[in-house]
Amino acid sequence: MAYQNPDIARVADTLKSVFESLDDKRAIMRSLELGSLYDQLKTLPPDQKAGFGKEVNELKNELQSWVDSVVETADEHPSIDITAPFDINVAVKDQPVLLPASQGTIHPLMSEVEHIIGILSRMGFSVYESREIDDDYHMFTSLNFPADHPARDDYDTFVTDEGLIAPAHTSTMQNRILRAGKNDLVKNDLPIAAVIPDRVFRNEDLDARHEHTFYQLEGIYVDHGVSTAHLIAVLKSWLGAYFEKDIKVKLQPFYFPFTEPSFEFVASCVFCNQKGCNICSQSGWIELGGCGMIHPNVLKEADIDPAAYSGFAWGFGIERLVMLKHDIEDVRYFHSANLKFLRQFK
Ligand SMILES: [Zn+2]
Repeated sequence: MAYQNPDIARVADTLKSVFESLDDKRAIMRSLELGSLYDQLKTLPPDQKAGFGKEVNELKNELQSWVDSVVETADEHPSIDITAPFDINVAVKDQPVLLPASQGTIHPLMSEVEHIIGILSRMGFSVYESREIDDDYHMFTSLNFPADHPARDDYDTFVTDEGLIAPAHTSTMQNRILRAGKNDLVKNDLPIAAVIPDRVFRNEDLDARHEHTFYQLEGIYVDHGVSTAHLIAVLKSWLGAYFEKDIKVKLQPFYFPFTEPSFEFVASCVFCNQKGCNICSQSGWIELGGCGMIHPNVLKEADIDPAAYSGFAWGFGIERLVMLKHDIEDVRYFHSANLKFLRQFK
């Protein structure tokens, strides 16, 4: 098309010359050159506006027709029914080639979670899911965090405008599980034994050891006369089965509002058998997570009498266990969608 106005003719020539080289042909509609003509239109005296505007519009329509002709042909793939079984789509001629289903694998984190809860199920623990959005009561109050208590700062996570919380730990499920199990505990003398492997969230500065989203494995056990000795025995058997090693353990004093006493659970290094290596910083010991005896206030909050019953709880980062087991150096690999990393676990 020939344009009368020299400015419009010049822009048309320029755009025509670059069109072929554009990766995204639609970008021509947003080009600075076309925009400059619209800017120019605004500054013209009224008697010139109509003629100039008409030609700019013609140019715009011409550009759009170039785009349509190219983009339409590029999009001319037959559609597939994504809800249909795999072979229905591949049997149709000229379909896009789909990746063979055998190329997909279970994410290493998920297969390890299956393995971990398999061991704990055989030990008598029921498995529960956590919630990915929860409230202040289950995140803090039911777990003996008084309002405005500084311990809340250790659980800095994401909060909606309405005050709902992306849980920073799976302990949000403790009150619910204790309440649900109370009847069987009191009337039928059945202990409460539950594990919760699920996703939690923290407002973290990301590095090789810290992610904003990760998996935690919570465990709780309540019965008559439960002591720290039971806690140690259960965790030692579970971790020994997971790492396929006889591990030594020690408890280091710690503080959590919802356990008393509280501990850091430390195990003998699974790599060097305590000879000292880089993984354990030559100490022979590795911290695996937090644990302790459930605080009487947490039992009371679930209507369980702390004079008659006691229990223990633990919360371990699942990525940390998997990283130790498979010698993975960076926690960020798990959410990276990096196929080179994922295919090692086929
Ligand atoms: Zn070591």
